[in-house]
Amino acid sequence: MLKLYNDLTGKKEEFIPLEKNKVKMYVCGPTVYDYSHVGHARSYVFFDIMYRYLKFRGFDVIYIQNLTDIDDKIIKRAREENLTIFELADKYTDLYFRDMKKLRALSADYFPRATQHIPDMIEAIKILIQKGYAYESNGNVYFAVDSFQDYGKLSRKPFEELIDSEDSPDKRNPKDFALWKRKKEDEPFWESPWGLGRPGWHIECSIMSTKYLGSTLDIHGGGQDLVFPHHENEIAQTEAYTGKKFVKYWIHNGFLTVNKEKMSKSLKNFFTIQEVLEKRSPENLRCFLISTHYRKPMEFCEENLDHAQRVLERFYVALESSRNAHFTENKNLLKKLTAELEKTIQQTESEFILAMDDDFNTPLALSHLQTLAREINKITQTSEIVDPEIMERAHKLLLELGSILGIYMENKESFSDKLVDMVLAIRQQARQNKDYALSDKIRDELNKLNIEVKDLPNKTIWYKKI
Ligand SMILES: [Zn+2]
Ligand SMILES: [Zn+2]
Repeated sequence: MLKLYNDLTGKKEEFIPLEKNKVKMYVCGPTVYDYSHVGHARSYVFFDIMYRYLKFRGFDVIYIQNLTDIDDKIIKRAREENLTIFELADKYTDLYFRDMKKLRALSADYFPRATQHIPDMIEAIKILIQKGYAYESNGNVYFAVDSFQDYGKLSRKPFEELIDSEDSPDKRNPKDFALWKRKKEDEPFWESPWGLGRPGWHIECSIMSTKYLGSTLDIHGGGQDLVFPHHENEIAQTEAYTGKKFVKYWIHNGFLTVNKEKMSKSLKNFFTIQEVLEKRSPENLRCFLISTHYRKPMEFCEENLDHAQRVLERFYVALESSRNAHFTENKNLLKKLTAELEKTIQQTESEFILAMDDDFNTPLALSHLQTLAREINKITQTSEIVDPEIMERAHKLLLELGSILGIYMENKESFSDKLVDMVLAIRQQARQNKDYALSDKIRDELNKLNIEVKDLPNKTIWYKKI
């Protein structure tokens, strides 16, 4: 039974989608005005795993991620880079997609852009005014928060603390937030019944999510910093507009920290994904990002990245040696080791699913995979023997479960692997010709490249050393 922590109720709940076997999922995407940093990567990688896992569990998932391409930060940055907002957004959208591709985040089904949905936003704002939830003031339109009874139900903050950051004499109440902003000098604008202007940030996500997924979504996700005001405001305006419950499960990931402080643009303590990938493989970064439960804060540091790298390397050793270890000999030992490995395989599979079913516990799921890898490595590295069919199953299970976490990106039969196979075939010939000087030389040279070669009774295996 899949359970997930719902921020709306503050509880872990069984996941029951609105429609049987279907999941409508929306994740707040990037504001495309700058490079994404690894704090953003944490969020996108987590929701990617959620998407993969829901599909693995047999759900038919529709996954929408928006791109915010109109906003104060975009306007400011476009001026600095001397680009139009559209040129700027295109540039950073491309960079965002490039980063996600490197991190092997699966593509959402659709990436709506805010600027392509302005007429829909204007329509919704008109209805909110008609229904008495919003008012026009001096070319701006504000949502009147005291008209919406449940305001604050997601962040569960006391009403006094629900303060909008924007101060304006045009507001009736300082807590009210903008649905439509009057055009300022040199700003991009659209025509509306209230004059020239542009939409507020929150209304963008309300419109783009309901347009593609209907009035009620199963899952809406994003980083923890979006709970208030963004998601609180999304709920107020969407439920006021549709008269229906907006989202069944609200899911937010925790912060990535640097020296225990939240990584953020404003604190300037961030590393872009690109910077990190100059020194680390995408898979190393990804494995690091899933090594802590998504709701907990997580420290970004070299040590933790190194740890993730070592975990990965052991997986690769297990994958490689289990691919090669198709050999049998002593029948009694064979029986014992085979039984042990078979048990580990069964346990790994069921415990991995239990861990992921428990609010996507990726660190626990990873540790079960590590147990399987250890068992494989124990058998193959002592050149002991096991039923090749069972070893094959262990190999396949590692691959299958790893793919849910999006690891093992490297092609297991890469070009360099094929080269090693070829060199070893030549060495085999040298041994048959009793040219042991040559065969030892080949082994030693491979050793220098960190490749361990083992001659078993009827086969030679190799694997990369850690
Ligand atoms: Zn949102
Ligand atoms: Zn959003």
